[in-house]
Amino acid sequence: MANDNKLQNLIGHSKEYGFVFPSSEIYEGLSAVYDYGQYGAELKKNIRDYWWRSMTQMYDNIVGIDASIFMHPTVWKASGHIDNFSDPMIDNKDSHKRYRVDHLIEGFAETLTKENAEIVLATMDKLLAANDFTGLKQLIEEKNITCSVSSTCNWTDVRQFNLMFATEIGSIADEANVIYLRPETAQGIFVNFLNVQKSGRMKIPFGIAQTGKAFRNEIVARGFIFRMREFEQMEMQFFVRPGTQKEWYEFWKEARMKWHLSLGIAASKYRFHDHVKLAHYADAACDIEYDFPMGFKEVEGVHSRTDFDLKSHQEYSGKKLTYFDTDINQHYIPYVIETSIGLDRTVMMVLSEAYEEEDLSTDDKQDSRVVLRFPPMLAPIKLAILPLTKKDGLPEIARFLINQCKPHFKCFYEEKDSIGKRYRRQDALGTPFCITIDHQTKDDQTVTIRYRDSMVQERIALNDVKNLIMNKIQMFP
Ligand code: ATP
Repeated sequence: MANDNKLQNLIGHSKEYGFVFPSSEIYEGLSAVYDYGQYGAELKKNIRDYWWRSMTQMYDNIVGIDASIFMHPTVWKASGHIDNFSDPMIDNKDSHKRYRVDHLIEGFAETLTKENAEIVLATMDKLLAANDFTGLKQLIEEKNITCSVSSTCNWTDVRQFNLMFATEIGSIADEANVIYLRPETAQGIFVNFLNVQKSGRMKIPFGIAQTGKAFRNEIVARGFIFRMREFEQMEMQFFVRPGTQKEWYEFWKEARMKWHLSLGIAASKYRFHDHVKLAHYADAACDIEYDFPMGFKEVEGVHSRTDFDLKSHQEYSGKKLTYFDTDINQHYIPYVIETSIGLDRTVMMVLSEAYEEEDLSTDDKQDSRVVLRFPPMLAPIKLAILPLTKKDGLPEIARFLINQCKPHFKCFYEEKDSIGKRYRRQDALGTPFCITIDHQTKDDQTVTIRYRDSMVQERIALNDVKNLIMNKIQMFP
């Protein structure tokens, strides 16, 4: 299957089976904003829970918080977002279409041979690192890079656009203050650093984790839920003694890659991309990239943020944000290693990894199925319980089983359609296990379990179902 097709098929499947819908669809949608449907919301929540527990439960020195989306406006001055959170953009004068300069040049590079593309991209990286906007425009003109709408090379100068959404707080218009929708969750952690450290009696090294919405006015938003204007992040700031940041950076690079592999995704589908142009706050940074249907793209960043944020908040707030390290009898501002992963991008990664159009044809019969091979711990529905018929007491046995299982995991009950059709529908939803109750169940208290991936069926005792499924869906077996 061509990758373009795969992305389109995935988008279609996500909508048809209740995973992801375009926002406000009955009004033609809202660009780069999406809603999660009944199964998408479960999948997203399971991924969030897995990340949360991997951080706050599996490490005894990491705790989780839940900070507000709105923050004091000075936070964004101190963090550098008001001055620096912008991308160089260029407009085509004929079509008025706006492009992120790096995306425009990268798009052009894709049309070149590998060797020529590398030269163009290396030149672009250098110009971006130097903030050389005149040079970037010259590169676009020299290479005759045209707009996809007007096909002309008639460009404005390159300018910076801030990506933060602003709104107002306060009920009286005159007195209202401009306030921003947070573009990252990290700052909610920095401003609470001392609150958590003191109230939790935390000793360095320790981490604070958080998940929550972030908002960016992305100019070129595309790629389904890969790049959205409203999205969710899962971030963890790990506070360390100055001078130890290099080793902790390596530690977290490796730990995060292990987490990715624990999703059952092959190592060959991931790669690290070390940053050449470092953000204003970083002394080392890399992306973990996954091989999406559109190619290798960032799913997570690991950043060594130095003491930039705490130092800057100390300066702007006038409040001391130092830590007293009793092991060395010293006060200092901790250094920070950050792991920052997009929840929606992870949903997209897990969906694209799971999606398979499987050909089941035999010599006599054409057959196929779409199956989502989610790891059982992430599947929206863990167990479908299907009475073979609607009568003869079979639904009653099914209800008995559901009542036994539903306090522990998500079940689904269905009695309509042939059993084959019902299995295929569960495959398309990614349900790893189906239980069929038939007439034999009444005689010997056994049921058929059917496995999604192998489609193998076997008989097991009704009484064993709950424990068997609970074993198979454990996050940390
Ligand atoms: P990109 O280069 O793709 O714009 P970024 O480097 O700006 O991403 P970070 O600021 O490091 O991203 O944010 C951390 C994570 O948040 C990213 O790795 C990504 O998974 C997620 N993320 C960032 N922007 C978006 C977005 N617009 N939509 C969905 N997820 C996003």
